[in-house]
Amino acid sequence: MDIKKLVKKEVSALKAYNAKEIPCRIKLDANESPFGFAYPAKYIAGIKTNRYPDPEAKALRQLIAKDLGIKTENILFGNGSDELIHYLITTFGGPVSYPVPTFAMYGIIGQALGEKKIEIPLDKGFDLDSDRFLTAVRKEKPKLIFLSSPNNPTGNCFSTDRILKIIEVSRSIVIVDEAYQPFASEEGMLPLLKDYRNLVIMRTLSKIGLAALRLGFMVADSEIISEVNKVRLPFNINSFSQAIATVVLKGKKELRSSIKSIVSERERLLEEMEKIESITPFPSEANFILFRVNNPDLAYSALLKKGILVRNLKDAVKGCLRVTVGTPKENTAFLKALKEIVS
Ligand code: PMP
Repeated sequence: MDIKKLVKKEVSALKAYNAKEIPCRIKLDANESPFGFAYPAKYIAGIKTNRYPDPEAKALRQLIAKDLGIKTENILFGNGSDELIHYLITTFGGPVSYPVPTFAMYGIIGQALGEKKIEIPLDKGFDLDSDRFLTAVRKEKPKLIFLSSPNNPTGNCFSTDRILKIIEVSRSIVIVDEAYQPFASEEGMLPLLKDYRNLVIMRTLSKIGLAALRLGFMVADSEIISEVNKVRLPFNINSFSQAIATVVLKGKKELRSSIKSIVSERERLLEEMEKIESITPFPSEANFILFRVNNPDLAYSALLKKGILVRNLKDAVKGCLRVTVGTPKENTAFLKALKEIVS
């Protein structure tokens, strides 16, 4: 029996998201935080393994709503924001539009769900190309537009005026994916939610030290939330993730200091990388730095030989690798290795 013949053609043509585990000494490839959090065992000890989790994640919902100054009815949780991308495309359908290069899952999920994809190249400074974007929006009328700001993998925030123009011109839902917002100098789009009913903001706990929990959330108009909620799988956030996230997010001091360290280490990394003649690092508002090298394959494997795993993004951005900001010690080891391999 030829299983391949049974698979939907859109899925058959897909390449799985690259999430292989590659053995290494220093892991700087997946934009995780180098800092994890301890949580007292008592918080999970009371969980009844035979019962389904709280379907509405009430305690966590209230905590996040209070922190962000929004109402609980404006939040929807996903098993990672990846799941929310899936839910949004399932709910609204396509065409799905996004700039490129950007986070791969908008395209992968769009294709898996059989929707048309409209990819608009970023301009030379990695910002949104307003003219091309607005022309495509007017012509193709995408149902959904995904804007990752700060953008993965380029690291920059898109200009607010360009984002707003797209929100204003399009009659579609515009999702500003703020996965990396905690590391940015700008505040993000939350304060603008009240002015634009078609604006959705997506956040995740994965980049601030809780990737293991798989917890993302979107903030939007309550009508959008209740439509998307119809396609949400029941009990999508497990009890352990709910409990651990609730305790860790209460520890604001620890969270803030881990973010502060990542931001200051990112600046140190950038400064040091700028001194290396044969590479070009790009400034970043996120927890990673994109950099161009002469031979990305060679640089990637030479770093790995020294035990340091980064992401080879040469297929998305010509000649580029991406390094996640680690602990100060890890970053120093990365810089040392990088200097050795390029000299
Ligand atoms: N959005 C962007 C821009 C990302 O880079 C990532 C993770 N790489 C995600 C969303 C997915 O995050 P999560 O772990 O919440 O699924």
